[in-house]
Amino acid sequence: MSFKPEMKNLLNTIETLVGGISLLESEKNYPIQDEDQNEVPKLSWSKLNSFMSCPLKYHWAHELKLKGPPSKPLKVGILVHEVIENLTRHPSKSLNNESLRKEFEQVLLSNVNQLPILANEDIEAMLIWLSNWIKREIELQQSTEITHIEEKIDFEFGEVFFTGKIDRVERDSTGSVTLVDFKTSKKASKPGSSPSNAQLILYDHAWSQIHGTLPDYVAYDFVRINERVTIEINPTIVQRELSNLLGPLSNLISGDTDSNPGFHCSWCDFKSICPDKK
Ligand code: SF4
Repeated sequence: MSFKPEMKNLLNTIETLVGGISLLESEKNYPIQDEDQNEVPKLSWSKLNSFMSCPLKYHWAHELKLKGPPSKPLKVGILVHEVIENLTRHPSKSLNNESLRKEFEQVLLSNVNQLPILANEDIEAMLIWLSNWIKREIELQQSTEITHIEEKIDFEFGEVFFTGKIDRVERDSTGSVTLVDFKTSKKASKPGSSPSNAQLILYDHAWSQIHGTLPDYVAYDFVRINERVTIEINPTIVQRELSNLLGPLSNLISGDTDSNPGFHCSWCDFKSICPDKK
């Protein structure tokens, strides 16, 4: 495996500070590009969002493929998503506390090698959040059909190919379509209220590209705080919010790697090695 000289220098510097760094795979051509060099390169919302929060973090994580230590909030989010997906993917599965407990145990068992980063209190807290969520879910399913779960989307934005997954698409009794994203954050926020909250707006654009029409609503479902925040969608909102993403996208393509220290450094995977952290 051979690395570019500047990459090798960076790795040597970092390794003298923190010891061995795990590198997933040598990528000789880096800009936005993904795994297979024969494939059309694709960006994702999480990569663009990572760049918007700090170009240096994006560079380390997605271009140099450096891996930070396991992140507890990320692991919690993945486990909660997995339980919700498994419980709702098969409409015949009954939704109640017993089926939740069984599914939860199953998901924990299948991730047993990653559980050491979670304390017992974390696991108990997740079960409480999910018990509250399932009560809302039972009520919701009386009037709403779930039409898509973990729906893969490939689309174009700003002349760049993107890929992503919509957690869930719902259609209510009036035929209105809502794109839903499950969150495990501690605080509620509104989809589209800032560039970092533009994920579902970008997915509206994707939905419209794929299905020829915008969805009617988008919603963040905050499982931890048992709250759903929904906004109605129209073309003006989508165009306005998407235009805020074009500048960062262009900077990403041009190879900006400047650091952007701020409050977000507290949960950055690279804070232990970053000389610019706040
Ligand atoms: S610690 Fe802060 S400045 Fe450094 S890479 Fe992470 S987010 Fe950027």
